[in-house]
Amino acid sequence: MSDDAFLSRLRRFNTDYFPQYQARFKDLVEQGQQPSTLFIGCSDSRLVPYLLTGSGPGDLFLVRNVGAFVPPYDGSQGHHGTAAAIEYAVLTLKVEHIIVCGHSHCGGIRALYEEQPEDAPNLRAWLELGREAALPVQLSSEALRRTEERSVVLQLERLMDYPMVRARVERGEISLHGWHYVIEAGEVHVFDVKTGGFVPASKALHSGDGPYLAHPEGHHPESPFNAADGQAEGNA
Ligand SMILES: [Zn+2]
Repeated sequence: MSDDAFLSRLRRFNTDYFPQYQARFKDLVEQGQQPSTLFIGCSDSRLVPYLLTGSGPGDLFLVRNVGAFVPPYDGSQGHHGTAAAIEYAVLTLKVEHIIVCGHSHCGGIRALYEEQPEDAPNLRAWLELGREAALPVQLSSEALRRTEERSVVLQLERLMDYPMVRARVERGEISLHGWHYVIEAGEVHVFDVKTGGFVPASKALHSGDGPYLAHPEGHHPESPFNAADGQAEGNA
């Protein structure tokens, strides 16, 4: 895309798109944002969170990085925008849902099985956040899929190491959702803690668990992303 293409898109946003949402943006500016959901997703260009969740302006607090990884709470691996965003979303925005969304054909997960360039020290260090999910096997499409899913659960477990997250999950104030987006099928598979597996949204009874269930009897808190209703709430 040339610079000129960007310029025409910027102009089109202002003339074609903005008028449709002007009232919504006005509210969001005057009243501030109150997103219900922190979405931690891979940076992959094929993952489009707004499309997947039927969301609009003001709905999602988004963090994206290579692999949809969650860094350790103790900051032991350096500066982390993702860790800062988690703290901000939980403590200031008071989100009620945290989604960790991986996906099929993830280059970040595949990279766990491949050598990385010597001159990419940040990438090499970052990938260690997914290392535990890697399997001691040759890379195959099945191994990749399983590693992608295992990584989502691993990141949710690390999220539970954040004291402010753990306390709210245990009190039922925040629900965690593990998602694996299968690009070629156009379907999100949601983590089910009871079976320990991922279930296609079309067959799922809820919009995904974390590795810890605040309501062991199976009750799921009201979710704007419940697979059954298919429509995000509060979407102006
Ligand atoms: Zn990815």
